[in-house]
Amino acid sequence: MISVQDTNTAASPLAPEWLAVPADLNALHEPMWAQGVQRNDAGELAIDGIPASELKAQFGTPLFVMDEADFRARARSFKDSFDAAFADICGGVDVYYAGKSFLCTAVVKWVEEEGLRLDTASGGELAVAARAGIDGARVALHGNNKSDAEINRALDMGLGRIVVDSLDELDRVARIASARGGQAKVMLRLTPGVHAHTHEFIATAHEDQKFGLSMAEDTTEQAGLSAAEEAVAAATSYPGIDLLGLHCHIGSQIFEPDGFALAAEKLLRFLAAMQEKYSIVMPELDLGGGYGIAYTPVDTPRPAAEIAQAMAAVVRSTCADLGITSPRISIEPGRAIVGSTTFTLYEVGTLKTVRVDAAGSGAAENQAENVTYPRRYVSVDGGMSDNARPVLYDADYSAILASRTSDAAPQLSRVVGKHCESGDIVVRDVYLPEDVAAGDLLAVPGTGAYCWALSSNYNYLARPGVVAVRDGSARLIVRGETEEDLLNRDMGV
Ligand SMILES: *Cc1c(COP(=O)(O)O)cnc(C)c1O
Repeated sequence: MISVQDTNTAASPLAPEWLAVPADLNALHEPMWAQGVQRNDAGELAIDGIPASELKAQFGTPLFVMDEADFRARARSFKDSFDAAFADICGGVDVYYAGKSFLCTAVVKWVEEEGLRLDTASGGELAVAARAGIDGARVALHGNNKSDAEINRALDMGLGRIVVDSLDELDRVARIASARGGQAKVMLRLTPGVHAHTHEFIATAHEDQKFGLSMAEDTTEQAGLSAAEEAVAAATSYPGIDLLGLHCHIGSQIFEPDGFALAAEKLLRFLAAMQEKYSIVMPELDLGGGYGIAYTPVDTPRPAAEIAQAMAAVVRSTCADLGITSPRISIEPGRAIVGSTTFTLYEVGTLKTVRVDAAGSGAAENQAENVTYPRRYVSVDGGMSDNARPVLYDADYSAILASRTSDAAPQLSRVVGKHCESGDIVVRDVYLPEDVAAGDLLAVPGTGAYCWALSSNYNYLARPGVVAVRDGSARLIVRGETEEDLLNRDMGV
C-alpha cells in the first residue's frame, strides 16, 4: 500500500541532513548576500533600492546582479585586515585579487582603486588587465602551461611576477627573458603537501597533481634534491631570472586557518634553508587564496581579520624560530572577495512535482517502505550554462523567491535549468514556498565567483550579462550575449 504524505509537513525525508526548514522563507540569511540586498516594503528583493522586477524589465533574465560597494568593501577588508595583522612582521601584505574567479575591466579598476593587485592565469586575462590600464607591475601571471606568447606578453607588460610552475617552464622563462636582454621577476610555485577544503586539511609528503614543484625529496633525477630545491638552484644560476620568492595555493573554499598556517610554516622553513644554502635572499612569499564563503546557511566562513591574525601568528613565530626576517607576504583571494557580491536572477517557468520513494532516494534510513514524498522541480531560464559548479563540483547553492513574499508552506524543491541534461541542476535542495509559480523571479546568492567565469553556450543559450549596482543605479559591466553573438563565429554554409 502506498501512503501519501501531506506536502505541508515541514522537514522532508528527501532533504539532506544539513538542510533545515527555514523559520521564515522570506528572510534573507545575511552571510549569503551582498550588503545592499534587502526586501523592500512591497516584499520584493531589492539591491540598493532597485527591485528585482525592475532589473528584469531593464536587463532581462538570467542576469548576474553585483553589488559594487560590497565588492569594494570585501576587497578593502582583506587588504586592511592583513595589513594590520602583518604590519609588525613585514610592513603589510600585498593582496592579489584572483581574476579567474570573475574578471572584466570594471572589476580591474575597482581592484586597483581599492589598493589591491591582480592575479591572472592566461593571455586572455592579461588582455583584460591591459585593456583596463592597470600598471603591469601590480599584475601576476599563473598557469602550469604558459605559452611563449603568454610569457612574452607578461614581459612586454612589465609584470610584477611570473609564478613559475615547473622546471621546464623555469628554463623557458629564463631563455625568453635572456633573449630579450632582460630579467623576468619570478616566484616558484611549490606544493607543500597540504591540501585543504572547507573544514579539513590533509598533509601528505608526496604530490599527485599537475600544479607546482614538489617539496618532497627524491622526486627528481638529482638524488636527494626535491624539484623545489632544484628550481631554486637553477633560478639563482640563470641570468634571465630575478627570483623574488616562493608561492603556494593549498585549495579552495577553506574555512579554517590551520591549513594556511601549516603551509606558511613549511614554506618559511624551506625558504630559510634555501637562503642559507645558496646564499640568497628571497624577499617575497605568497600564500595563495582559497578563503571560503557561505553558499548555504550551514557555511560559516571566518572574517578576514581572524584568518589574517591566525596566519600572522604562525609567520611571526616561525620567523623568530628560524632567526630570519619575514619576507613580504602576499595572498590571492578570489571567491572570498567576489563570491557573495553577486546573485543570479532567474525567471521561473515549468514546474512539476514528483513523488520519490524515500528508501530508494538515499534519504534518511528507517523510512517505511512504499512511502513516497514530494520533490518539486522548479525550472528556470538558465542553468548549467551560467552556473556549472553544481555539475562540476557537486556544489550546493541556495535560492529565494525574489519577486514577492509568500506565506505558503515550505516545499522541498530542486531548481533546475533548461538544458538537455538531467544533471542540469542549479540548486539541488532548497525549501521554497509551495505557491511558487511560472513568472516568479528566483534569486540564487553567492554566484559572483566561478559562475560567469565558467559560463558556456551549451544548447546555444546566450550567456547572461553582469549588472553592477552602485548608489541606487544599475549599469551593465558585461552585456549579455545576443543571437548575433551566438552566430558570429559560424562561417556559414
Ligand atoms: C584559484 C586560485 C586562487 C583563488 O582561489 P579562491 O578560492 O577563489 O580564493 C588563488 N591562487 C591561485 C594560484 C589559484 O589557482
